[in-house]
Amino acid sequence: MTGMELQNDTVINVAALLREPMGAARSLDLHLESLPLDDVLVARDFEGQIRLTRLSDDILASINGTTAVELECQRCLEPFIQPVQVKFSQEFRIAYDVRTGAGLAGETEEEDEEFEISANHELDFREPLRQEILIELPMRPSCGENCPGPPQVERGDEDESIDERFAALSALLDDE
Ligand SMILES: [Zn+2]
Repeated sequence: MTGMELQNDTVINVAALLREPMGAARSLDLHLESLPLDDVLVARDFEGQIRLTRLSDDILASINGTTAVELECQRCLEPFIQPVQVKFSQEFRIAYDVRTGAGLAGETEEEDEEFEISANHELDFREPLRQEILIELPMRPSCGENCPGPPQVERGDEDESIDERFAALSALLDDE
């Protein structure tokens, strides 16, 4: 079971695994160049593994890996690269019989949030991985120990000329 890998894709065909008995498993190496997390944030260079285990009603996907997300430091407001590590498992319900193609009823009606294996017997771990990376991001992003702190207003020639004008103005006001 070596040499299997998934490059820049989050969809895996599990038809063969579905035909195997409970407990059968597959492992794949994962490489994702980029994974958009929301309108602004993107996870880059995700490297990890996914292990798929055939259960009775689900396939359990266990993912671990590392990625990097560019965030803005809350103190100095400069962008920096935040390394992120994820390790989680997600069940994908077997929604279609692999032999007959018939749809299988879910356990309860209330589980719209659960992930399913498609009619093509494909499993897409993009959404659970996206959610998991977002959860792992720090609430208060910081570029680290060497953060220069809040940005200072640079005092250049322009500022000096403004100061001179203010000085002239205040002198004028003093005269009145
Ligand atoms: Zn900073």
